[in-house]
Amino acid sequence: IDGTAGVGKSSVGKAVALKYGISFLSTGQMYRCLGWKVLKSGINMDDESAVIKAAKDIVWGFERQSDSSLKVLVDGQYLGDKLQLEEVGRAASKVSAIGPARAVIMQKQIDLGREGNIVMEGRDIGTAICPDAPVKIYLIANAEARAQRRVKQLQEQGEKADYDEILASIISRDERDSNRSCSPLKPAPDAVIIDTSALSLDEVIEKVMEEVGKVW
Ligand code: C5P
Repeated sequence: IDGTAGVGKSSVGKAVALKYGISFLSTGQMYRCLGWKVLKSGINMDDESAVIKAAKDIVWGFERQSDSSLKVLVDGQYLGDKLQLEEVGRAASKVSAIGPARAVIMQKQIDLGREGNIVMEGRDIGTAICPDAPVKIYLIANAEARAQRRVKQLQEQGEKADYDEILASIISRDERDSNRSCSPLKPAPDAVIIDTSALSLDEVIEKVMEEVGKVW
């Protein structure tokens, strides 16, 4: 499952994985872990060789949760809610555009994909990580719908949410993810494109399950 930020890939992917009793990985978590590590160690984002070294040095761990998702451990540590911080999201977007750092993380994801029995969501799953996946889904939604969902999500968590700031951040992240030279965000030629702007989560899950049902 690929698509832009905040389009609902994780909620959909987790639900589908749970129905089939297989694992679910939100691959952005790994870029977020690297972004967090870079911020935490005070590495300058523009110092590409330091970012690449940080990526190479990470020891990854994956633990399957009861909701089927894989909890990502970085150097034995689970970062939890820290990964959802806007600051960490921005850092993830920046480090993920540094080719050799990206390659280290991609290889780990390719290995996980090869083991099979997994739903993965990200930006380049259908195009680069699992080009042979039997089902490829590409979710889209307009930026306003995604910003509204994010505001609602933050409010439900009792956090402050500024719609305009979130909208601006979504638009700039989309732009960076779509225009970078390595693995830009784009649908695989054989991906099924679903516009979720006007659909409920259950309706999207139903559409994805229909696609899975065709091959499995
Ligand atoms: O999906 P999430 O918002 O957690 O991803 C954080 C960032 O990691 C994205 O903005 C994107 O830049 C990057 N990413 C990526 N490739 C993926 C998953 C995420 O480049 N497969």
